[in-house]
Amino acid sequence: MQQPLIFNVQKFSTHDGPGIRTTIFFKGCPIRCQWCHNAESQKFTAERMLDKNGVPQLIGRTYEIDELVKLVAQDQLFYDQSGGGVTFSGGEVMAQPLPYLLALAQGIKRRGIHLAIDTCGVVPQKNLAAILPYADLFLYDLKFIDSQLHQRYTGAGNEKVLDNLKFLSDQGAVIDLRLILLKDLNDTEEMLQRTLAWVQENQIRIARVSLLPYHDFGRDKYRKLGRECTQNFAVPTDERLAAIKAAWEQRGVPVKIGG
Ligand code: SF4
Repeated sequence: MQQPLIFNVQKFSTHDGPGIRTTIFFKGCPIRCQWCHNAESQKFTAERMLDKNGVPQLIGRTYEIDELVKLVAQDQLFYDQSGGGVTFSGGEVMAQPLPYLLALAQGIKRRGIHLAIDTCGVVPQKNLAAILPYADLFLYDLKFIDSQLHQRYTGAGNEKVLDNLKFLSDQGAVIDLRLILLKDLNDTEEMLQRTLAWVQENQIRIARVSLLPYHDFGRDKYRKLGRECTQNFAVPTDERLAAIKAAWEQRGVPVKIGG
């Protein structure tokens, strides 16, 4: 079975879904968001990155499925007590070898652990359909409602993102819609209204919206990879975040600021 590369298994994570979680970060992503704060997640191949002492370290390794299931199950008590679980993230998890993902998801679900899938949506719909029976929650990114802007800042249009979001909603998936917000680009009133209108027209059922204001904590990673940093955006104002939060809440959708 083809094994994907994983670049981090983060225990005690509190930003990738409810409760205390273990997040598995898969390496490789089909798009290139200019604000990406995990530059080491983008390439599907292993690469060298300088550690904090300036020593090159190889990023990306494989795991046997049993090994990974055992590793995440070590914290089952914390998941149970906090309403947490495991999150598959990346990079883009749904662009990884499907047989491996399904076997891993089965192993985790067999132990009764909550499973969340963090996706950018630019993935084959058949992969989402296949993982659906095992996924308790989707953390679904919507970066731009405008396809041209999506194309300009991520390298891909948003048609698949919207189509897959509708698909998951129609299938009854539990969706936490994650809106990365960039000042004057997608936090404007126009973009907010277009997003709300699209969600309403398409009868998208959203359990929660997470507003994720842009940050540039990942700048140093580009340097450590020997790449030019593409993070050059501005943070939305608190007033703007509050207005966006209020607009979603008015439509009955709970909103959280932050992951
Ligand atoms: S989808 Fe996520 S991992 Fe991929 S480039 Fe965008 S921010 Fe980075």
